[in-house]
Amino acid sequence: MNTTKSQCVLLTGGAGYVGSHTIIPLIESGYEVVVLDNLSNACKGLEGQKPVPITKVEELTGKEVTFYNVDLLNSNSVSEVFDKHDFCCVIHFAGLKAVGESCHIPLTYYRVNVSGSINLLEVMKAHNVKKLVFSSSSTVYGEPQFLPITEAHSVGNNLLNGYAKSKYYIEGILQDLCNSDKDWSVIILRYFNPVGAHPSGNLGEDPTGIPNNLMPFVAQVAVGSRPCLQVFGNDYDTVDGTGVRDYLHIMDLAEGHVSAVKKLQTNNKNGAVAINLGTGNGYSVLQVIDMFSQVSGRKIPYEIVGRRQGDCASSYCDASFAKDYLGWEAKRTLKEMCQDTWKWQSLYPQGFSTLK
Ligand code: UDP
Repeated sequence: MNTTKSQCVLLTGGAGYVGSHTIIPLIESGYEVVVLDNLSNACKGLEGQKPVPITKVEELTGKEVTFYNVDLLNSNSVSEVFDKHDFCCVIHFAGLKAVGESCHIPLTYYRVNVSGSINLLEVMKAHNVKKLVFSSSSTVYGEPQFLPITEAHSVGNNLLNGYAKSKYYIEGILQDLCNSDKDWSVIILRYFNPVGAHPSGNLGEDPTGIPNNLMPFVAQVAVGSRPCLQVFGNDYDTVDGTGVRDYLHIMDLAEGHVSAVKKLQTNNKNGAVAINLGTGNGYSVLQVIDMFSQVSGRKIPYEIVGRRQGDCASSYCDASFAKDYLGWEAKRTLKEMCQDTWKWQSLYPQGFSTLK
């Protein structure tokens, strides 16, 4: 089925955490959404059904989402998807994202993240689709040299893991591509710490195995799936000694992508632009635990352990460029981040595998 060029957006990795939540405001803004995902880190549906997060999105929006189980490393299959639709724009989420794992299997990270991105860009070019929103990360800044972090902060220095480097390399590739061909327009979104869930509680972050990140770990301790949280260090130069991060509600982040797509559609200025997406506020680990405990009414046992390798004391952004350039700013509070995470975690204590 061919779809109207100005309204159809392709999401690579659209069955994942950030991708699936982004579909909702895209649909609410009148876009048609096509998802391409290899389901390496998403909950598969029953035989013959769409992946669970996509089905949930369809239930929440009442609209159909076209889904392809396709790997970006298979260029021919990606090309076939482009043959079937006229995309106005691509949002590229697909990639591996476990920081620790990227230190153990760097080649896999570069193959999936970097080669996968190159394949996508080549197919886009061949189909003359030259508008892209890229899912990058604040990790490209490395150890912050000043706070709050602006987009002018240096990138690529002292990156400690393959995940961060893969994002940095892809950003460089996108810059080179835009320099080589003035028809390309790219918005690089550097996420700070996305957390939370859809306010219905029917869509959320569904990590496989032990969560790497703070919020899903806290949620699993609160619901009783894990006995105790380890707090990685309380001797940082911060408000209470624990690490400070710029947590951002997933629905705010999702809406940031819609703003980026709209900007690409109306923008006359081509090239690649990098934009921080965060609230601009930092919260410590203990402040997050305290808020989560309040909203859930659950005690969250924790123990202080040594620092985690590669962590910095504080990281939070200057979010003013996103407001100026995209007209976007985060609206939701830490309380809402914790409330919505808790709603999701209590409805699905084992994530989507609760349903099986
Ligand atoms: N953190 C923690 N215990 C955990 C996971 C994370 O104390 O089990 C801390 C971590 O040291 C950091 C903050 O929580 O200060 C956010 O960590 P996360 O992994 O969520 O994000 P990132 O380090 O990528 O900013």
